[in-house]
Amino acid sequence: MKNAASSKLQFVVAVFLAIFLVRSGQCPAQSQAKPEVAKTPVCLTLSGPPGAGKTTFGKMLSERYGIPHISIGRILRKEIADKTPLGLKAAPYVEKGELVPSDFIMGMIKNRLSQDDCKPGFILDGFPRNMSDAKGFDAIVKELKIKNYRMLGLEVSPDLLIERMNNRRVCKNGHEYDVVNNPPKKEGVCDIDGLPVEARSDDTPETIRHRFEVYQKETLPVIEYYSKKGCYMSIEEKSGIDDVFRSIVQLIDNKEK
Ligand code: AMP
Repeated sequence: MKNAASSKLQFVVAVFLAIFLVRSGQCPAQSQAKPEVAKTPVCLTLSGPPGAGKTTFGKMLSERYGIPHISIGRILRKEIADKTPLGLKAAPYVEKGELVPSDFIMGMIKNRLSQDDCKPGFILDGFPRNMSDAKGFDAIVKELKIKNYRMLGLEVSPDLLIERMNNRRVCKNGHEYDVVNNPPKKEGVCDIDGLPVEARSDDTPETIRHRFEVYQKETLPVIEYYSKKGCYMSIEEKSGIDDVFRSIVQLIDNKEK
């Protein structure tokens, strides 16, 4: 009898402690809103010109649906910073604002999408970016039996794009800030890992201009390709970030039904 009573007491204490930790934000895994569980896997590729907010919305979608956000640009920057074999090969392309050749990255993407955490879906940010990527992705989709994938295009006015890229700062681990709208607490230092926060080396005016040209020449045909396949959807970013995100979620959820 005494044992049963003490177990009950322990249980009640544990429940109260859990509620307290969650409320006080000390239990990070549970303090975030529970992700929505989609009925079918949400397999999305995110497209848009440089500065369109692919990473911002990619992260938000990842939290919303509980699926990984895979940014090819971010992976490449990390590989470059760590001077890995892929990083050394990719660096000259990224520095100039050129696309890294598809065959350098296709194996890495296939491996990443094969991992268990991608079973409920994934957000692939900044891929496919040219027709060679798109054909390579078709092969991956077939091999991994990925169903119902769609491309989400982010459309933004050129003035806003330039402003965002001028304001953008990033740490080596890819945590992004906007010096005007979302600065780090301490100037030049990442809130999350304490690393230096700097402008991206490919956010110089000359490279930005070139990345736009690359987008027009190489990525717009991919959008046309997905439109013809009937799996392209787009959002125009006319309002604030929360409104745009709500519209994106509506688009995804309606298409999912
Ligand atoms: P992002 O972070 O998406 O703006 O990408 C930054 C840079 O990484 C691009 O300008 C390219 O040099 C490279 N990159 C990112 N994604 C790809 C991709 N899918 N194919 C080739 N290069 C890429």
